[in-house]
Amino acid sequence: MPQHVVVVGAGVIGLSCALLLQEARYATTAGSRHPSLPPTSTAHRDHAHSLTTFAHMRRLHAAHPRTAGITFLKGIEYLERPGPEYLALSTPSPSGNPVARALPGFRLLDASEFPADGRVTWGCEYDTWCVNPMVYCAFLLRRFAHRGGRVVEREVRRPEEVFALGLGNGGKKNGPESSRGGEVVAVVNASGTGLVPDAEMTVTRGQTCLVAEECDATVTRQNADGSWTFCVPRGFEGGTVIGGTKELNNWDVEPSREVREELLRKFGETYPKILGEKGEMTVLRDIVGRRPTRNGGPRIEGEAVPGAGFVMHAYGLGGRGYELSWGVAEAVVEGVERHVKGGEAKL
Ligand SMILES: Cc1cc2nc3c(=O)[nH]c(=O)nc-3n(C[C@H](O)[C@H](O)[C@H](O)COP(=O)(O)OP(=O)(O)OC[C@H]3O[C@@H](n4cnc5c(N)ncnc54)[C@H](O)[C@@H]3O)c2cc1C
Repeated sequence: MPQHVVVVGAGVIGLSCALLLQEARYATTAGSRHPSLPPTSTAHRDHAHSLTTFAHMRRLHAAHPRTAGITFLKGIEYLERPGPEYLALSTPSPSGNPVARALPGFRLLDASEFPADGRVTWGCEYDTWCVNPMVYCAFLLRRFAHRGGRVVEREVRRPEEVFALGLGNGGKKNGPESSRGGEVVAVVNASGTGLVPDAEMTVTRGQTCLVAEECDATVTRQNADGSWTFCVPRGFEGGTVIGGTKELNNWDVEPSREVREELLRKFGETYPKILGEKGEMTVLRDIVGRRPTRNGGPRIEGEAVPGAGFVMHAYGLGGRGYELSWGVAEAVVEGVERHVKGGEAKL
């Protein structure tokens, strides 16, 4: 009888964890309050997770170029006031800068390639990827189900509640064990905002605007006043997300028309190529999302909950859930394995 792991949450983190747990030969159930699909578009530990994710995305894209929802393209960064970590990238050392070396296709931009307004003082480009979240998460979910994963639509109040639901026995607490079942050895808490009392959890509101134009690069500009101007092309006929605000502790779900106009104006000035012959972008809709932000960084650690069982937390990914997803999923499998084999699971 296989050991069973239940993943709470079917966003990008829950689905990535569920797939890697399946590969590690655990019978896996993904439970979610909603049928799935994500809410929005698209330190050292984080850096490692982003490199791991890059490698996974490259493999997935190579194997499923038309169906995974992943696009490889150039990433362009413009900074009005670069900090020392960026300036260090401009100083060639004999061995080369390790950060630049880790970024495939890295190239410093010449000042002649900066936006025409004259305020950008540093820029670079590198090879990167982006996803169409609807296509990508549907792809992950299909893959999980096709490999025998079970998906349950259910709201839980706490991750540890899952131990009492009998999901390892086909959903019946005292029922016969199904062929997919077995003892629930761990619950993965990939609920985005955590589902447990955590004083460090909050949200960062993000207002963006979806336009019909397809952009040929993902562009990010850090402005001197601390604001951001960026675009994330979705690919797969999904248009481009133009952003965006980052408002800590703001829970407002209503978009502002003035903010939309400002975002479009600033991005058009930064990357006029997107305007094409028409000279303007075609607005499809405003988007307001909440990044599940945790002061001090995401919580990725195991917890033995008295009277219940082992919970592996993987929440609070803020504005980087996609970027770090496969690195987080690998850490989660490692934590579950350590618990099952009798060790610690603090990563
Ligand atoms: C404007 C904006 C721009 C962004 N840009 C980027 C970007 O460029 N790059 C990037 O990497 N990330 C970006 N993000 C962040 C990214 O969207 C999140 O980090 C990511 O979606 C978090 O994924 P998750 O799986 O942890 O949580 P979620 O996607 O929130 O999934 C949580 C899951 O848990 C389930 N759940 C929650 N509570 C319960 C419950 N009580 N019972 C059962 N199930 C439950 C939900 O139904 C859902 O399936 C952006 C976000 C916003 C808002």
